[in-house]
Amino acid sequence: MDSGGKPSTAQVLLFATTSALTAVFYSVYSRRSTTVARLKGAKQLSINQDLKNILAEAPGKCVPYAVIEGVVRAVKEELNSQFVENCKGVVERLTLKEKKMVWNRTTHLWNESEKVIHQRTNTVPFDLVPHNEAVAAFVRVIRPLDSSEMDMETTYENFHPTVQTLTNVIGHFISGERPKGIHETEEMLRLGACVTGVGELVLENNLVKLQPPKQGLSYFLSRLDFDSLVEKQQRSVVVWRILTAVFGMLASSMLFFILWKRWVYHRKRRKEKKVLAEFKEQQKRRMEELNVDMASVSPSACTVCLSRPRSCVFLECGHVCACDQCYEALPEPKKCPICRGNIERVVPLYNS
Ligand SMILES: [Zn+2]
Ligand SMILES: [Zn+2]
Repeated sequence: MDSGGKPSTAQVLLFATTSALTAVFYSVYSRRSTTVARLKGAKQLSINQDLKNILAEAPGKCVPYAVIEGVVRAVKEELNSQFVENCKGVVERLTLKEKKMVWNRTTHLWNESEKVIHQRTNTVPFDLVPHNEAVAAFVRVIRPLDSSEMDMETTYENFHPTVQTLTNVIGHFISGERPKGIHETEEMLRLGACVTGVGELVLENNLVKLQPPKQGLSYFLSRLDFDSLVEKQQRSVVVWRILTAVFGMLASSMLFFILWKRWVYHRKRRKEKKVLAEFKEQQKRRMEELNVDMASVSPSACTVCLSRPRSCVFLECGHVCACDQCYEALPEPKKCPICRGNIERVVPLYNS
């Protein structure tokens, strides 16, 4: 079917979707790559007696983006694991996840689904101290829960399966939801854990504090060392870059395809118009030669002999413009006198 060279709705949708996804992926990619660049540019400092002096001399007694590595130590009280004895920490997160099977009405399959039904995080103030206990210096960690990448240690994990009875099994088949059970986890940032902190370092009231940085920089508290932390961020940049490139390529090839189709259509139309104009010009000249008046020629007369009625259809172009005798007299290979298209077949025209 002739769509007038216009793209189909599906093609437009595909182009719109791939372009929108490219934009989204690119924005994530550019944010992540900025994070990596900033992370690499962060000032690496050690927790020691010099730290206070460095900060005291820094403008505003602050290093806007600094990296420090240290060992977790509670300021006063500490948190005890609710499940494991002698397991102490400074951040404790309890999570209850409900696991269930949900009937998918489209695919007719049971799919596993998971939902956090309860989460509670406890924290107590804590410091990062040097590995060497003889060095009496520390950094107080402020708002640890604002950090990204806080990978805590899983200290406890348990699954409580749902007790099934015959009546509720039947109920589940009707409702399309079959509970599997509750998954309970406890995660902790334990005392003595080695942590890399990246954030704003300030000296306030003779206390060195690590806090969330300003200007949209990311705050990190990670159990990885600094190099591994950078590497991990870099890997995610690569993933987003690949996604951006793939979808960008899809979107641009879609655009290219749409434009190419329009161009092909317009070129064809231009050619058709040109051929038609040439034909009319030729016709006019012939009429002048034969000394025939335009008005005296019947509109249904053959365009070649201008006398007999038109009696055949040329395919594939579909033009009805000649009589049988003139068709037979056309030179080989036979071409339609109007559009110059090859005549594949001829169908007689029956006037009833
Ligand atoms: Zn004719
Ligand atoms: Zn034709």
